[in-house]
Amino acid sequence: MPEPSLYIGPEALTALLAWLQSQPWRDIALVCDDRTWPVLGAAAEGRLREAGCSVRTMRLGGPGVVADEERIVEILQQAGAPGHLLYLAVGSGTLCDLTRFASHRSGRPFVSLPTAPSVDAYTSRNSPLVLRGLKVTVDAQQPLAVFADLEVLRSAPSAMIAAGAADVLGKYTALADWRLAALLWGEEIDGAIVREQYAALAQVAGAARGIGRGEPEAIAALTGALMASGSAMARWKNSRPASGAEHHLSHYWETMHLLQGRPASLHGAKVGLGALLMARAWARLRTLNAAQAATLMGAARPPDLEQERAAIASGYGPIAEAVFAAQGDLLPMAPERWQGLRERVVSHWDEVLAIAADVPSPEELEQLLLAVGAPTDPAALDLSAVEVADGLRYGHYVRDRFTLRRLEAALGLDLVL
Ligand SMILES: [Zn+2]
Repeated sequence: MPEPSLYIGPEALTALLAWLQSQPWRDIALVCDDRTWPVLGAAAEGRLREAGCSVRTMRLGGPGVVADEERIVEILQQAGAPGHLLYLAVGSGTLCDLTRFASHRSGRPFVSLPTAPSVDAYTSRNSPLVLRGLKVTVDAQQPLAVFADLEVLRSAPSAMIAAGAADVLGKYTALADWRLAALLWGEEIDGAIVREQYAALAQVAGAARGIGRGEPEAIAALTGALMASGSAMARWKNSRPASGAEHHLSHYWETMHLLQGRPASLHGAKVGLGALLMARAWARLRTLNAAQAATLMGAARPPDLEQERAAIASGYGPIAEAVFAAQGDLLPMAPERWQGLRERVVSHWDEVLAIAADVPSPEELEQLLLAVGAPTDPAALDLSAVEVADGLRYGHYVRDRFTLRRLEAALGLDLVL
């Protein structure tokens, strides 16, 4: 599929209508909620009707729309027969994820009209959904096009803008983890994608103060970076280019909140905090020289299956079995893989330190997060000290990805706690 066409600028509805002229669809299923209807939904419906389109508007009611079974069925039911429908998602992450999934499973395309620069998911293929109370990520489709109206995005709640920026700033640790996995665990990596992601990151770091103040060029830079990150994930066919240990922390906290029936805080805000914690680990890693790393590795033991199983049981309770089963080749770890990891850690320590050098210090990252307006205090995210510690203890089991947390475990260290 071609990359989505991307418009970031003023008068996005005019741009959408101009684009529609060259497209075959005149039957539009507009998905919005009570919050995005007055922001952009009403105007979109009006302009599309004026342009001769038939519009079925699905305004999802109630506070805090969640991307769950109920909403998926609500959208499919209201959309009626798929026919020659083009879905239009008017909203941020959740509405986009719902529309992405519902359109894809009914064999229809969709277009995104973001209302906040809050996540990097707009241009991606995946839909994170909450099914039977648990967060799962399912493969779906990219939008045909995204029309991002800068005036609308600038007027979004400042916490949502900050969350989008923090989601991008989390790439510092995500990219370091990917490079580490390629170096030590033999994972595939794409140099061009890594460079693009660092460029998107630099764009947001450079505009941090302006983002915090809601300046138009800074919001445009943030939006561009979010779209680039979503496209990178779509091209790589998974979230590796944008997600490492900081996302695992965020997913762990989110899963625990879901299991306890507590409301979720913004994804990007949790990622920002996760990145800050991981920046502390990277800073401590930088203090280890090659001789110390070799000594640690010499004394290290491979992961003990029963101990690991017990840790997963304490960390994940009712879903522990599923988490244990999803550990891939990290658990159980074949003896030859453990031996390979040990050898590579010792012989490539200089390269490990070179990767670590590209992660900002915790102080620098904290300044960037504060500049964009993202919280750095766990309490602001409804997280207790125990929950933060649990995230660090169990977050890396969220999926079968090699990250700094897995290296720490191999070295027999805990660099954050
Ligand atoms: Zn993210």
